[in-house]
Amino acid sequence: GLILAVETSCDETAAAVVEGGTRIRSNIVSSQIAIHRRFGGVVPEVASRGHVEQITAVMAAALEDAGVHPQDLAAVAVTYGPGLVGALLVGLMAAKTFAWVHGLPLIGVHHIVGHLFAHRLAGGPEPPWLALVVSGGHTELIYIPNDHTFEVLGRTRDDAAGEAFDKTARALGLPYPGGPQIDALASSGDPERYPLPRSWLEEESLDFSFSGLKTAVLNLLNDARQRGDGVRPEDVAASFQAAVVEVLVEKTVRAVRRYPGVPVVVAGGVAANSALRRVMDRRAEEEGFLWSAPPLALCTDNAAMIAAAAWPRLSRGWFHGMDLNARANLGLEAWAAGTGWRRS
Ligand code: ATP
Ligand code: FE
Ligand code: MG
Repeated sequence: GLILAVETSCDETAAAVVEGGTRIRSNIVSSQIAIHRRFGGVVPEVASRGHVEQITAVMAAALEDAGVHPQDLAAVAVTYGPGLVGALLVGLMAAKTFAWVHGLPLIGVHHIVGHLFAHRLAGGPEPPWLALVVSGGHTELIYIPNDHTFEVLGRTRDDAAGEAFDKTARALGLPYPGGPQIDALASSGDPERYPLPRSWLEEESLDFSFSGLKTAVLNLLNDARQRGDGVRPEDVAASFQAAVVEVLVEKTVRAVRRYPGVPVVVAGGVAANSALRRVMDRRAEEEGFLWSAPPLALCTDNAAMIAAAAWPRLSRGWFHGMDLNARANLGLEAWAAGTGWRRS
């Protein structure tokens, strides 16, 4: 079966056609990064307008690239949360209209489940597996015993990992999005130059907290400014990155100890981080577990991952009605449990 998927939860307007939940036939991503860079971050109103301008052409391009006609499709999948509600609505309306006009079933997808399933498009592991989701809005450790069950073992209590990267980059005067900028700058920096706090929380906790680290960086920069002696931005970037990565990796190791022998997949935009990949390589070898991450283009927002996530629901005959609404704070467990689904 072929699924046409649509994704507009943040600042990427994306559409894709995927066959059998794993084979990418087309994957179109129109990014608004250049537009939002002027404002130092994503402006919701600007994002919605950008989606309105792009969505029709992006969907048409996905079908054309795949060489697929609407009558060849088995379903239309669309992200309906979590995300910016105005942005989500644009993709949802476009997907609903398309499904209605062509008489296709509609499958509403949770954005993070999309990130979780991205690796299926690149030959990633079958269940059971563990996921470390590190994106602009999420930091979560999730155990996935099967394609329909998602047990959240830990999540951030404040900032997401990507958010911490973006805010720290901003404090260093780097353009949005800051993650790749910090990554590049850190490559010529000393990660031990500035001792920054690691927030481990309670002994057994798999939760995360990055706001203390962000504050520590801000204080470091302010103190240096007041003393009139500068900091080496490369060293700040490297020290900050080392602190984030150490906590992400060690919490993942703790999770693996609870589920021995289960492979780990790192998903979301921060999975592109070179230090994270390096430290995961080392710790996985020491601890004896397997880990992987999807190719970079599938780590950041795209619609192919939304089709991959929709596939197990299509196989089960789980659909949504045309009354499906955008949900800015859609919960993972509620989505997986089938709340609001129709079964055929
Ligand atoms: P969410 O999926 O939680 O709604 P999002 O879709 O905006 O958020 P992604 O597109 O998955 O998030 O990832 C974007 C984030 O990844 C940004 O915060 C960006 O700075 C970060 N990022 C991208 N590349 C790197 C890198 N090399 N190192 C660190 N962070 C990175
Ligand atoms: Fe995302
Ligand atoms: Mg994004």
